[in-house]
Amino acid sequence: MSLNDSWMQRDLSVLWHPCTQMKDHEQLPLIPIRRGEGVWLEDFDGKRYLDAVSSWWVNVFGHANPRINQRIKDQLDQLEHVMLAGFSHQPVVELSERLVKITPPGLDRVFYTDNGSTGIEVALKMSFHYWRNSDQPNKQRFVTLTNSYHGETVAAMSVGDVALFTDTYKPLLLDTLKVPSPDCFMRPDGMSWEDHSRNMFAHMEQTLAEHHAEIAAVIVEPLIQGAGGMRMYHPVYLSLLRDACDRYQVHLILDEIAVGFGRTGTMFACEQANVTPDFLCLSKALTGGYLPMAAVLTTDKVYQTFYADYSTLRAFLHSHTYTGNPLACAAALATLDIFEQDHVIEANKALAARMNKATAHLRDHPQVGEVRQTGMAVAIEMVQDKISKTSYPWQERRGLKVYQHALQRGALLRPLGSVVYFLPPYTITEEQIDFLAEVATEGIDIATRATVSVSVVPGAPSEFRDPG
Ligand SMILES: *Cc1c(COP(=O)(O)O)cnc(C)c1O
Repeated sequence: MSLNDSWMQRDLSVLWHPCTQMKDHEQLPLIPIRRGEGVWLEDFDGKRYLDAVSSWWVNVFGHANPRINQRIKDQLDQLEHVMLAGFSHQPVVELSERLVKITPPGLDRVFYTDNGSTGIEVALKMSFHYWRNSDQPNKQRFVTLTNSYHGETVAAMSVGDVALFTDTYKPLLLDTLKVPSPDCFMRPDGMSWEDHSRNMFAHMEQTLAEHHAEIAAVIVEPLIQGAGGMRMYHPVYLSLLRDACDRYQVHLILDEIAVGFGRTGTMFACEQANVTPDFLCLSKALTGGYLPMAAVLTTDKVYQTFYADYSTLRAFLHSHTYTGNPLACAAALATLDIFEQDHVIEANKALAARMNKATAHLRDHPQVGEVRQTGMAVAIEMVQDKISKTSYPWQERRGLKVYQHALQRGALLRPLGSVVYFLPPYTITEEQIDFLAEVATEGIDIATRATVSVSVVPGAPSEFRDPG
């Protein structure tokens, strides 16, 4: 038995994997990884895979990055962890100062949690609590966009709209207001992203006009709806949204958990619209893809409504045990150093241009509805019909065929439904980008040529963030 097989068997007899129908592994091998280096992951049989999706969008500077490794090792010898209530430490103070400095002006306070979903929970609870502390207790509801994704905990699911993840749990969810997304995939022929995004704002304006008295906040993923299939829209939507939130006295929560730290071409996506949200949620690439941590930044105005004598019961009494873990802070500090010292945002422009060039030919593919890009994210959407952009029935699992082909060829490309995408580490080379495009093209050819017979259940949810 190969080493891969033996680890797979031991794994499958005790583990339950995330976002997985475990029965799939009766056919689909699980890949045990022994080591990582740069953009490469290596399994126990010595086969290497180019990590085109940054291990679920977290890894920006490669696996086992020597600079991040060193910083964590140094921190480990000093202090591995201390509770953050009543105590503090050097890496958490330094990281907070730097986050305040590099995020848009006005975000002056940092609250930490240990993953993205709980960062969202914090932003939602703080917004709700702010209105309560401000004698406007009727402002309790949240506005979200269709096709959005904000995480897996119950309130985070409530503000999400990817049916596959939320439909089952509907009875548990908060009652939110859903507004049609500015996603440009379905824009009318010949219309620009900007015009379409601007037009779609009318729905948001109307919802805010009608319901603002009961709305605490609007929450959106700026520029890219990630788990919803890497759907993209124009920054003008964010400018219009900021302005409307001010007019209607509603908070703006920007979930930059996936898009923060350079993914869209700027350090933070909201810079492209020149807006400061009331809450900015960061995670994923925050620690360079090393350790779980999230940060919620907010304004002094929000902070001040909680700042009072203890007996007023205005405090935000929310905590996660590992809040502000020093090792995670050290990883984040090393990551920010690399951004600064290597002028990463500037250097990424050449890589983004190469990603564009390497995938351009796919625009003419008869089974590709769109090739879209925002900065360091490129998505190729496979469709059943190019003219009407009709998607393949999700049960056909076309993306899974791309995934399997890519693995054979030595690339980790994990499509979202029928959407093949690259979200590579920023340490990728131009040659490696060309290799990914080649593998994706072959995979798309194989996946779209295959005859698949499935029984389609009408009205079943669309499928995203799944291997296929
Ligand atoms: C991944 C993600 C989350 C959830 O983060 P977790 O760390 O997986 O809980 C929330 N919002 C967006 C936009 C994400 O991409």
